[in-house]
Amino acid sequence: MSSDLPTLQKFGLGAQPQSDAKIQVVTTVVEKQPRREDSTASYLSPSQLNKFDLNDVNLDSILENNRRWATTVREENSNFFTELSKKQEPKILWIGCSDSRVPANQLMQLGPGEVFVHRNIANVVSHTDLNCLSVVQYAVEVLKIEHIIVCGHYNCGGVSASMHKHQYGLIDSWLMNIKDVYRRHQGEFETIEGEHKRERRLVELNVLNSVHNLCHTTIVQNAWKQGQRLAVHGWVYELENGLINQLDICVRDTEKLEQVFRF
Ligand SMILES: [Zn+2]
Repeated sequence: MSSDLPTLQKFGLGAQPQSDAKIQVVTTVVEKQPRREDSTASYLSPSQLNKFDLNDVNLDSILENNRRWATTVREENSNFFTELSKKQEPKILWIGCSDSRVPANQLMQLGPGEVFVHRNIANVVSHTDLNCLSVVQYAVEVLKIEHIIVCGHYNCGGVSASMHKHQYGLIDSWLMNIKDVYRRHQGEFETIEGEHKRERRLVELNVLNSVHNLCHTTIVQNAWKQGQRLAVHGWVYELENGLINQLDICVRDTEKLEQVFRF
């Protein structure tokens, strides 16, 4: 399957518009998408894609999207699904934010079978989160993935919330992970002018913290000990232009880890 943008968009995989900096629920009601037999159906611009019709209470339009997508893929490659159903061999584990505007496969332009994904509020890797750690263990030990990407994003609602005193309920406990990052870098934050800049820096430091936490796990360190090729990357996605920024971190062994974290 080709991975160029028009093809992915044709398959209904394009990203949503990235214009609004705040987390929002898409409430726009749009006209029904053109059917495949329409001449315009071979290409859908990002603004036409994936707008959920609030009147579609039975989710019929989504099921129809799925049928059209599956049909289009099979028309291009009749064996695509049968081959993919036999096994998965992704080389990438993506740990990202649950934010609807940061869809892993779409923004990397990778198709089904290419990316193993874990997402949570503000892409936090915590040593007490059995869900995340189970994903990491399976990805590293069973799938033998070669890259773990922690990808945060600027204008992250979770990071923003962690900087304020407002109570949000259960999620306050989760956001403590990010508040801890802020506290550890308090000195640096005191030198940064303006809340917007401080928030962007906290997004980056939160990604770095998740990268470090991953490298501190016995899962990752045992893989390195066994000679498994495994790199842990830190990225930040810019909602306002759709581009990924690589942070200055990519860990491939225990060399730079603090002694206390080495096993
Ligand atoms: Zn977020």
